[in-house]
Amino acid sequence: MEVTRKHSKKRDAILQCIRETKSHPSAEWVYQQLKPQIPDLSLGTVYRNLAMFKADGTIQSLGTVAGLERYDGNTDPHTHFICTTCGKVVDLENVELPRAVLTEAEHGAGGIIGSYQLQFFGSCADCAKQNH
Ligand SMILES: [Zn+2]
Ligand SMILES: [Zn+2]
Repeated sequence: MEVTRKHSKKRDAILQCIRETKSHPSAEWVYQQLKPQIPDLSLGTVYRNLAMFKADGTIQSLGTVAGLERYDGNTDPHTHFICTTCGKVVDLENVELPRAVLTEAEHGAGGIIGSYQLQFFGSCADCAKQNH
């Protein structure tokens, strides 16, 4: 009983942490944020819980950025920009594929497109500045 309650308390904290940030964090980042409040938290627990949330659709994964899987607490379809230099991930508001592109995709798939993920890669403003 005690174990179950402690376990779900950690799970709640992990989910809250990922929902409260816009930074699209890695498991390591979540672990660093929560460790001071939850001293017996392990990185393995964070990984396991994030994998579970991802599997049941509570959060989404953006794939691997600079070797680390990144997560998003916002599961509404939205577009991302990923800086391949510093690993920053930001939401791009109002960037959607034109209807014509979806129609083309449905042609190619020979079925119905239910959703899509759109990600742009490049250099963020800070990194672009440093390259000049
Ligand atoms: Zn950058
Ligand atoms: Zn996002």
